[in-house]
Amino acid sequence: MTIETRGFQTEAKQLLHLMIHSLYSNREIFLRELISNASDAIDKLRFESLSDDALIADDPEFKIHIDFDADAKTLSVADNGIGMTREEVIEQLGTIAKSGTAEFFESLTGDQRQDAQLIGQFGVGFYSAFMAADEVEVLTRRAGTTGGTLWKSKGEDEFTVEDAEADRGTRVTLHLKSDAEEFAEAFRLRTIVRRYSDHIGVPVVMPAETADDKDDDAEGAGSAPGEEVINSATALWTRSRSEIKDDEYREFYKHVSHDFEDPLAWSHNRVEGRLEYTSLVFIPRRAPFDLWNRESPRGLKLYVQRVFIMDDAEQFLPLYLRFVRGIVDSNDLPLNVSREILQQDPAVTTIRNALAKRVLDTLARLEGDDYDSFWDEFGQVLKEGIAEDFANRDTIMKLLRFSSTKAEDEKQRTSLSDYVGRMQEGQDRIYYLIADSLATARQSPHLEVFRQRDIEVLLLTDRIDEWFMSFVNEFDGKTLLDVTRGELDLDGEEKPEDEADDDALAKRIKDALEERVESVRRSTRLTDSPACLVLGEHDMGAQMRRLMEATGQSVPDSKPHFEFNPEHPLVVRLDGEADEARFGDLVKVLFDQASLAEGQALADPGDYVRRVNSLLLELLA
Ligand code: ADP
Repeated sequence: MTIETRGFQTEAKQLLHLMIHSLYSNREIFLRELISNASDAIDKLRFESLSDDALIADDPEFKIHIDFDADAKTLSVADNGIGMTREEVIEQLGTIAKSGTAEFFESLTGDQRQDAQLIGQFGVGFYSAFMAADEVEVLTRRAGTTGGTLWKSKGEDEFTVEDAEADRGTRVTLHLKSDAEEFAEAFRLRTIVRRYSDHIGVPVVMPAETADDKDDDAEGAGSAPGEEVINSATALWTRSRSEIKDDEYREFYKHVSHDFEDPLAWSHNRVEGRLEYTSLVFIPRRAPFDLWNRESPRGLKLYVQRVFIMDDAEQFLPLYLRFVRGIVDSNDLPLNVSREILQQDPAVTTIRNALAKRVLDTLARLEGDDYDSFWDEFGQVLKEGIAEDFANRDTIMKLLRFSSTKAEDEKQRTSLSDYVGRMQEGQDRIYYLIADSLATARQSPHLEVFRQRDIEVLLLTDRIDEWFMSFVNEFDGKTLLDVTRGELDLDGEEKPEDEADDDALAKRIKDALEERVESVRRSTRLTDSPACLVLGEHDMGAQMRRLMEATGQSVPDSKPHFEFNPEHPLVVRLDGEADEARFGDLVKVLFDQASLAEGQALADPGDYVRRVNSLLLELLA
């Protein structure tokens, strides 16, 4: 039969290169990845055999075999699962068709240590075999077909494929590198397999130590003469919580998520009663590369009565909890359940609601650095929940974190409850300000009076903050108020409506600014700045405007209110200016400066520069 030589896809080549050069510190994990793939392949065949049991008639007992040969320096992981056709081998082992691939490559830094961590986050998978092997062979036959395929590669640029006789399933054989011979030792292998694969629901078998001194206990169900089952071969979530060690949960997480790092937290629950199901959900430590791609696969692995049904069952979690990984195993759904059925099944809705609560509870139990790190990675996504999940809004509100004028440094965040705890006597509102960056926020003139009175203001800088705050009206009975909107009255005094109209200076300024402003009034916000711009109570802010424009929506026009600080020397000087033209120039400069202080671009920067320069010239004359 002809041997066909093919090149790896560019991304696959890059990933292989990284794999070979940057992950050495923990390379034994390749075995976890291969066993994980083998177990997935068996899960898939078990599922297909539900409707066609002829598929497994030749070999009905599912198993994963680990074999090694210390002399030949080889190690192999073989499963009798679904296998691959020739086309599938070429496609699946020659390319990376994973969501987030582009983002992953963009994020690489060239620094080996940092990149090694990023690879872990991306998911190492099959290619990790090349950390320990200088050549890998994959011999495979798709269940239900005749004739198999042999794939071989040295992991550089290309691989070969040829027809070959094969048993059902897949055997991956590693020709170990000279410094990786430890992986052809029985004791070392047993230790690794126990550590990483104990929780897998399929027996993992190895040749027995010697035929005579085989330990009877270790033989376990399903072990044939001369071989020994070395894992407990019970799916982790079916065991009782009290029996499971934290390390076992961590390893199981890596199996389901293909993540390299430990999870931040998990929650394992068995529910009995009207509905019966088990769920095991994990909060990852780091965001995946495709977190912001709404089309990316997401969701839990679904099992029905312990039989794997599908990956990425998204119906069991709301969209804003799309970062959660794990499994759900239901006793009520039919084995032939489809995605369409899941969408309509009321039991699924009930489970989704319960899981959302459970995840939020798990988050609420995280403390200190753990919660901070969760917030840094996933806070923005959780904010979507305020709009999406009305039933849990109060719980989500408690999980929100904000920068604040009272924070000691850039990193420190506060919760709404902590803010309320620090509120001044008589203060009945929670104040916040939205800006593009913390630096702009901190310099905003809108904060001046709050600083003077020592009132805390939350500083919001995520690009969805204006949108998200529009769903948040109050917390703990306190109204939330945007400090850049409306008339500010910190003393609770009602101002007479027409005060602004009686004000001669305000009128003169309004005439000078003409159509640029909605109104002009004396400010209660300012202590140091001469003027600031204020949004109307219901006007759209700069951030929301940009979001809408970016999605091609039309944005209603609105003009700001111009507030001036009558005590400021510039304004005092302005009031005494008899020359209307100079008065107009000065006012326009103040207006433009107020825009700049908000971090906004000027409508006519040239005009601003001309005015300032002519004022400077007068000063120097
Ligand atoms: P992942 O498992 O994250 O998809 P891998 O690189 O580990 O990525 O594997 C790529 C694909 O190759 C898998 O999705 C699967 O389709 C196929 N594959 C790998 N190992 C096996 C196996 N033992 N049996 C059948 N298919 C496999």
